[in-house]
Amino acid sequence: ETLDARAIDERALEILRRTFGYDEFRGEQADIIRQVAGGGEAVVLMPTGGGKSLCYQIPSLLREGTGIVISPLIALMHDQVQALGQLGVRAAYLNSTLSLEERRSVEQAYVAGELDLLYLAPERLAGAAELLDRGDIALIAIDEAHCVSQWGHDFRPDYLQLGMLRERWPRVPRIALTATATLQTRAEIAERLHLTDAPMFVSSFDRPNIQYRIAPKQDARGQLLRILRSEHDGDAGIIYCLSRASVEKTAAWLQGEGITALPYHAGLDAATRSRNQARFLREEGIVMTATIAFGMGIDKPDVRFVAHLDLPKSVEGYYQETGRAGRDGLPATAWLAYGLQDVVQQRRMIDDGEGDAQRKRVQGQHLDAMLALCETVSCRRQQLLRYFGQESEPCGNCDTCITPPASWDGTIAAQKLLSTIVRLGQRGQSFGSGHVIDILRGKQTDRVQQRGHESLSTFGIGADLSEQAWRGVVRQLLAQRMLATVGEYGVLALTDESREVLRGERTVKFRTELERTRGSSSRSRG
Ligand code: ADP
Ligand code: ZN
Repeated sequence: ETLDARAIDERALEILRRTFGYDEFRGEQADIIRQVAGGGEAVVLMPTGGGKSLCYQIPSLLREGTGIVISPLIALMHDQVQALGQLGVRAAYLNSTLSLEERRSVEQAYVAGELDLLYLAPERLAGAAELLDRGDIALIAIDEAHCVSQWGHDFRPDYLQLGMLRERWPRVPRIALTATATLQTRAEIAERLHLTDAPMFVSSFDRPNIQYRIAPKQDARGQLLRILRSEHDGDAGIIYCLSRASVEKTAAWLQGEGITALPYHAGLDAATRSRNQARFLREEGIVMTATIAFGMGIDKPDVRFVAHLDLPKSVEGYYQETGRAGRDGLPATAWLAYGLQDVVQQRRMIDDGEGDAQRKRVQGQHLDAMLALCETVSCRRQQLLRYFGQESEPCGNCDTCITPPASWDGTIAAQKLLSTIVRLGQRGQSFGSGHVIDILRGKQTDRVQQRGHESLSTFGIGADLSEQAWRGVVRQLLAQRMLATVGEYGVLALTDESREVLRGERTVKFRTELERTRGSSSRSRG
């Protein structure tokens, strides 16, 4: 049975109202559902809370057979399936938490055509392929599709095998969904999942009611307490800390200040965790002090603030965590305190952490992008959205819009750096930031001597800035897209914007805070 677009629209709306109890589709939901229910494929980029689930759930209900949902969030499957069950949707899941008996009964229900939706952990797919053939597949939804990206912040090797889906089930429509949407990740998802021909549905990532604020860390607790008292008295909120120990300490300290704060991290026993989570959801004005283990799948609309006492590891993470604030559309605050010690600590965590050199380089790039957001002198929202490939105007609802920070004119510094890259390019060479900075500062390293780079006309012209200041320049240029990195070695490359800077058509501003990280050599401010 094939449905035309009108019939799909009508029946989709009916399911939305009767089964899910909502009045209207949001954003691009209707378009996506029409596409997939009609047998087409889609790549869906929608922020957390945007309503991705309905985009595959409704087509699964509209089409013959069972919708297969591949999701890495095993911990959430049980709740998702239960919630669907309450709506009268026949859903089940297969993952490592099931007993043999439970698994058998799910398999039987699937083969008998008694399931609308079957959730599957990616590592189960290969083993389940024969089972899937014995039933009828309505569609395959690949949730959290960014996990296929080796450059992303959440790579999962099991996702790579999802590339075989098209060959294995060529006639089954596939829909890939993610809330992480850098341009690079998008391209990688489409390529690795063989969805390059599928239309891409990109929703706005803007959360206009969230006020983004990033403050230099002075006394973080005092800063936070002032905000809680003056702006968020009695409000529900989440405070993210990097370590379990600091979660505990922060919760205890807040309790001492008379604030109802509860801790949440993976080191607490399951009963405590679920008790604290339940209180956060049910009671009013609870402040959850948590590691990033908290928040996935939590759907609490009236979280009024999200605070970070430690620097998130990536812009994706920051966006996802802050996105838990203000889902009801009412004003909410995203506040982050960061200091140099955060940078040092995170670099060390990357260096000492697991993973090969390539993985560490990627983690370093994520950290740099996060730092660039912290250091920007222009609108935070604009920069955040640009990171996700979305252009916008200054927002008027972030700290840099409300109180523009002091900045210095970095045009000449930028030109020095960019022209060094041009000169290397003319010799057919390209390098990462370390070597380019060595050239600018006139450092006689082995590599400089081997390559004869002391003969470059830009050799030593940047000696007035410290190595750290130059790294800041690189970081901020990257953030403003006036510089790019290419490939796994982080080779520096020019962009269209860099050429404008070189031609003097564009000026560059850097946040004055950068001055503090400079070496002793002084330099007049612009
Ligand atoms: P995502 O997976 O994109 O993070 P969900 O699919 O979990 O988002 O949806 C987020 C919330 O929005 C859920 O509570 C969901 O029921 C609700 N929702 C989704 N679509 C609609 C809609 N059209 N109208 C009202 N609420 C919706
Ligand atoms: Zn702004």
